[in-house]
Formats: sequence, structure tokens, C-alpha cells
Amino acid sequence: MNGPRTPRYGSRGGSAGALTAILAAIALAAGCGATARPAVTHPGGRAAAAAIPPSWSPQQLADAWDRERVSWPAPALVRHADVESRLRDVQAQSPDLFRLEEFGRSVEGRPLYRLWFGRGPLHVLLWSQMHGDEPTATAALFDVFDHVRRRRADPAVVRMLDALTIHAVPMLNPDGAERFQRRNAQGLDINRDALRLQTPEGRALKALRDRLQPAIGFNLHNQGWRTSAGKTAQPASISLLSVAFDEPGTMSPGRVLTKKTAALIRDALEPLAPRRIARYGDEFEARAFGDNLTKWGTSVLLIETGPWPAADPDPHLVRLNFVALMTALDALATGRVARADERRYDSLPVNDTALFYLLIRNATVVPGTGVAPFIADIGIVAARGIREADGGREVRLAARIEDLGDLSTMKGMTEVDAAGLVVAPLWDPALKEGDAVALPDFSAHRAARAVAPGAPADLVILRPEAGRHRVVRVITH
Ligand SMILES: [Zn+2]
Repeated sequence: MNGPRTPRYGSRGGSAGALTAILAAIALAAGCGATARPAVTHPGGRAAAAAIPPSWSPQQLADAWDRERVSWPAPALVRHADVESRLRDVQAQSPDLFRLEEFGRSVEGRPLYRLWFGRGPLHVLLWSQMHGDEPTATAALFDVFDHVRRRRADPAVVRMLDALTIHAVPMLNPDGAERFQRRNAQGLDINRDALRLQTPEGRALKALRDRLQPAIGFNLHNQGWRTSAGKTAQPASISLLSVAFDEPGTMSPGRVLTKKTAALIRDALEPLAPRRIARYGDEFEARAFGDNLTKWGTSVLLIETGPWPAADPDPHLVRLNFVALMTALDALATGRVARADERRYDSLPVNDTALFYLLIRNATVVPGTGVAPFIADIGIVAARGIREADGGREVRLAARIEDLGDLSTMKGMTEVDAAGLVVAPLWDPALKEGDAVALPDFSAHRAARAVAPGAPADLVILRPEAGRHRVVRVITH
């Protein structure tokens, strides 16, 4: 476990007084509400305010999301036109609450939008999907907008609107989203363009930050499905990072703020996703926006959405994003963030990236290549893509065999013990559980791919039975 590190206050990434000023402003704004708030004297100091409760418990937020969500069921299918029309609706429905502007254009001319609300002194910037194939938070942002709209007269939301001005940029990379790819239409990774600023999307984000000078930024991404919370079989469903602004990871008041915010998000999410909250690796990336925004004075909290072990992971992951964002905004608005324990961030398990989507252990592998059977574990990885289908697009899970052999030191998000069972290529897509079959001559089934690294994960698990084989499970994607 990591012990607490003594903050070293650097001269860059915000002056030592910046956070104190922010927190004083937070306390002042909060004190203007119906309920007077005790003043915050120092971030995390012993003389700080008495405990400030969250306005909503994580379970209340999760329940509200379950009842009221307005976001799309499949965020990966959301296109720029959907975001554009939905933003216009949000603004038109409550023009006195939400304002909307186009602040730039993508390479292919798609407008980049900022929706903002609140009137408070603390400016918060959130942007999602700067990688086009990382859509979860885009959906969650619309649930945040709607939560605020529905409850705009509630004291907690009034306090939030009085304390904060919240600027949201859903889908910073619309051209990439259109193709469901990481990079923009130039083939550039916007998140490695903070120094050269060769992408119009990156230039627009930089100009927006310089204009708004937000105190804190939320950089909202998705991470690969191989990511685990430490070296465990638990997926890192949400990973958090208080982004550094230099190689040594110098602390600054802004980084204290993002660490404290991350600590509160951890505590809110863990009851909903036990052992699935992690810390993103904290190497400084000189070319990335989070690192440079932090250097420019807007401390960035990176939120990476990872895998969730369910056939449809989206509802679970959008809900976690919603709870994380509402918890963070509320804590910034009430000043509760000042009391958070940074060690709850420092002690998070660190991301590991060796998790298999599915790990079949101890199988007798009939590889389908004519080679004699052998005992092996089969490590399968998966990623989602988009397939053009009749009348629209659909999400497609692509799973392939990543490794074969002794994988006893590895973990799977889902594991199957195939001791005593046979695993063979799926030679007939019509096979189903319970069928009694004879193992075929695979040379006559050329469409069946071998059980081999790189091959698609189209497999059948069989139980040998008196000269026949019984189908235990068909795995196909
Ligand atoms: Zn990303």
C-alpha cells in the first residue's frame, strides 16, 4: 500500500494560494445558500469545517439514474448529429438555465459545442470523447444535464448553480466518433497534440481553456478492456488520475484539489463497484492535454471508464460516470472536497493491463490444425466496434485468442475451468449446448479457424462421453 506523500508545492501548475482562494470562494458561495456553511480554513487542515454531507448518497444518485436516465442505451452508436440535436433540445427546453455555443469545428467541419450552466465563481470544464471510440461519458453528461434540469429548484442544485459555472463539451472528436476510431480525421491523436496544436479540435480546446480559465477540468475517456484494478481479476471499471504537470509529479494546490476530488469519487463508487475502482498510471505525458492543462493552470482529473463483466456493460458504466460526476460537482459546490482525504486516492490499486476478457483454463485443446491435442489455457481479449448494418449501425464485439499455453499467472474477467473438457474450433455455427456430436475431420471444415493466437474466439467446449462429445458451451462473437 502507498503511504501518504507529503505535498511539495511547485511554482508551476498554480500558485500555492490558488486552491485556498478557490476554496474560500466555494465556502463563501455555499454560505450564501439557505444553510450557512462553516468556513473552510485550509484544505484538509485539522481546523477545517465540520463534516459536510453529500447532497445525495451514491445510492440515491444511482437510483435516480435508474429511474430517470435520458441518455442513449448504446453510447457507441451515438453520432455527432444525435449530440447536436440533443444539445439544442436541452438548451431550448430550459433557455434560462443552459447556454450553448459553437466554439470550434472539427477537421470535417462538424461544430464543437459547449453547453454551460450555473453562475458561480468556480469554473469547471468537462470534455468527453476526445478519442472517438470512447463514448461512455458523453452519454453520462446528458444525464447530468437532465438531473440538474429536473431539480433546479432543489436547494442542493441551487447551491451548485450558485457555486459553480459548469462548462461541458460532449464529444470533442466528432469525426472520430463518426468512424468509431480513436483518432481524428487527420489520423492524429488529439490527446498527443497539446504542444503542436495541429488538430482543430485540440486548438479549440486550448482556446476554450484559455478563455474560461477553469479551476478544474474533467478529461473523460474509456480505457481498454484488459485493464484490471491491480493484479486482480477485477476489472478497472473506473480509473482515476490526478494528472501531473511535470516529470517528477510535483504537487500543487490544483493537484491537491484533483486528488481530493478523486478520493471522493472513489468513496462514492466503491459501494456500487466494489474493488473495481483504480488509479491510472501517473507517468507524465508531455504531449497530452490533461498534463498541459494542469500546467496552464486548470488542474485535470482524468476519468477512464473500463470494462464491466456483463453482456451489456453500458448501463453499469454510464451509471458510474453519472454518480462520479454528480458527486464531484456537489463536493466542489459545497466545499466538501476540501475535507477529503487524499490518501483515499493514493491508496487506490494501480491499473494493470493483462486481464483477459475470458480465460479458459486447463482445456484439452484440439487445435483443428491436425496437431495432436494438448493441455493449455486460452486467453481471449475483446473490443467493441461498430458494424454498418441494414438501416443503421450496430455494436459488435470482436473477440480473439490473445494467448495460448500456461496462463496460470494471469487473470480473466470471466474464467471457465475446462479441466477434463475439450476445446475445439467452432466448426458448425448451428451447434448448441447439449448436442451430442462426433469430433469432425477439421480438414473438411476449412471455415473453422484454428485454436491459435490471433484467431477469432469462435470455439466450442465439449465433454467427452463414451466415444461422443457433448456440447457444454459455444463461444462465438
Ligand atoms: Zn482516451
